[in-house]
Amino acid sequence: MHVAVFVERIALFDIHKVLRILAQENKRFVEPIVTTISRERTPFHVLISCILSLRTKDQTTREASNRLFVLADNPEEMVKIPVERLEKIIYPVGFYRTKARKIKEICEVLIKSYFGKVPDEIDELLKLNGVGRKTANLVVTLGYQKPGICVDTHVHRITNRWGYVKTRNPYETEFALREKLPAKYWLTINDLLVTFGQNICLPVSPKCSICPVRGYCKRVGVTRSR
Ligand code: SF4
Repeated sequence: MHVAVFVERIALFDIHKVLRILAQENKRFVEPIVTTISRERTPFHVLISCILSLRTKDQTTREASNRLFVLADNPEEMVKIPVERLEKIIYPVGFYRTKARKIKEICEVLIKSYFGKVPDEIDELLKLNGVGRKTANLVVTLGYQKPGICVDTHVHRITNRWGYVKTRNPYETEFALREKLPAKYWLTINDLLVTFGQNICLPVSPKCSICPVRGYCKRVGVTRSR
């Protein structure tokens, strides 16, 4: 008996080509809110909006950031807002109570230890309570245009699905990418993959049938797609 076996052809992974395709494709989608803020505002705004964005939809972050920045544009103005009022302003972002407290605390530290200026070094940013590697990298790259790779859940998931890295968590992915991703993509990969991950390469059931880079993707760990 003859059994036909169809094997999908996967091209050799070419990061330059893949990222070029995504840059072109992403033009039809709305860019991540923190990217928009980084173009129009200061590293302080990037830091605060990034904190607001954790576990929160982009549209909610956008609205909460706008409400907050109209009232307070820098650490000095922000510390004057009572925590209870801050909570109300940023509601309904995820963990708004915790975030209100953290934002206030961070602003106090910025004033006391950094002359009201947001540090431009990852290690300094990590000393701020509530700032993890993702936020620190985003502030350094988007806020200051300095080298860093912001790895969030999208960057981690997608680069693993491609088979470009083989890692267990975002922390490992950041260091794997620091080893192999050409430096010219460090500042833009997060932006590209967040947009791509929100619209095509979704966490559950990615849209592989319409994916522009399917021909390069090994689809590692993808069991369900559409
Ligand atoms: S083929 Fe599927 S898993 Fe691979 S990048 Fe595209 S959407 Fe993601």
